[in-house]
Amino acid sequence: MTAPPAPRRDLAAEPEVARLCDAVKSAAAEGRVLLPRGGATRDGALGPFSGEPLALAAYAGIVRHTPTELVVTARAGTPLLELVETLAAAGQRLPFEPPLPAREATLGGAVALGTSGPARAYRAALRDALLGVTLIDGTGTVCRFGGEVMKNVAGFDVSRLMAGSYGELGAMLEISLRLEPLPEWSQTQALACTLPEALARMPALAARAGALSGLAWLDGWLLARFEGSAVEVELDAKAAGGETLLPEDAATRWARLREGPLSAKGDGALWCLSMPNDAPALELPDANWALDWGGARRWVRSTADPGAVAAMLAPHGGHGLRLSPSVVRTPQPAALRALEQRVRQAMDPSGVFAHGATPGEGP
Ligand SMILES: Cc1cc2nc3c(=O)[nH]c(=O)nc-3n(C[C@H](O)[C@H](O)[C@H](O)COP(=O)(O)OP(=O)(O)OC[C@H]3O[C@@H](n4cnc5c(N)ncnc54)[C@H](O)[C@@H]3O)c2cc1C
Repeated sequence: MTAPPAPRRDLAAEPEVARLCDAVKSAAAEGRVLLPRGGATRDGALGPFSGEPLALAAYAGIVRHTPTELVVTARAGTPLLELVETLAAAGQRLPFEPPLPAREATLGGAVALGTSGPARAYRAALRDALLGVTLIDGTGTVCRFGGEVMKNVAGFDVSRLMAGSYGELGAMLEISLRLEPLPEWSQTQALACTLPEALARMPALAARAGALSGLAWLDGWLLARFEGSAVEVELDAKAAGGETLLPEDAATRWARLREGPLSAKGDGALWCLSMPNDAPALELPDANWALDWGGARRWVRSTADPGAVAAMLAPHGGHGLRLSPSVVRTPQPAALRALEQRVRQAMDPSGVFAHGATPGEGP
């Protein structure tokens, strides 16, 4: 039986939302810059910011969870962990397996950073799970994009732009997401091999396994995770070969891949690279690697400078984000940069949210 449609709610009439809208309007009028802020778990990594904090963590709570429809709407300040635990109690989960760095981390922060875990390549990216977003734009107006159910998302969906917007397109108030059921069974196969051997084996594993939900290389092991019905998982795991990890061991390794598998401390810089998964093994000085998403996400710690990383990625069409010692991204193509500017202009004409938290470009 389908749930009745959610009644339309006028968020602008809520006193807390009206206060936030007024704060944005007066900042726009006075030429001040605001930084939407959730749990502020990223401040240490990026700061200092140029804007005054616009606190959204108190605007929290699950507004509507309809298990039969596999959808949830929650306020942006809802702690991500609380949402994940509530969904798990109902036998459901977020399909994009977000990092869960600290109890204070919020849903709004996760969407603004656009971060997805190992399941991204085989289930859904955070962006693809977004059904709708209600936000305050740079004029202080409450805008609603997309919807709260799966059927009504058609055409170009502005809500998806909020994934990875770093709080520079507006302050999110409510977020609607599609969900998936928790799998009946999960099993991880591990095969000892080198990085080039892992890259050579990954395409065949990805092509034949319907239950695949993670394909990585960590500490000299190729890891293939299968999730679904026990029968399907057993078939795919058997075909993959290797040894079966104990559930706790597997959970620890996938949690590392989800949160960032290489330590932020140590010599050189820590990078997260996105590239076509069929790109070959890449060479960087003094490099320590970990692979995720079947080779499409590559974590590396290396003494190479940002220019060398950008030059290495260029032939493959990839891009990189340096996470430490400070946050830098490899240069964007000019066309993409121009498009980004036009979107910013449309959503925030006076630059209220131009606080510069988006990672700056390297040389
Ligand atoms: C480069 C990088 C470094 C990281 N470093 C750390 C770290 O050192 N420690 C750690 O625990 N985790 C870290 N993380 C993970 C991150 O903290 C989590 O993904 C978390 O979910 C962010 O939630 P938050 O509420 O703390 O966001 P915040 O830190 O409050 O904000 C993060 C970004 O999201 C925007 N934002 C937040 N809420 C909203 C909203 N409602 N509307 C619009 N924009 C919003 C902010 O403007 C900011 O740009 C890092 C992630 C990245 C990409």
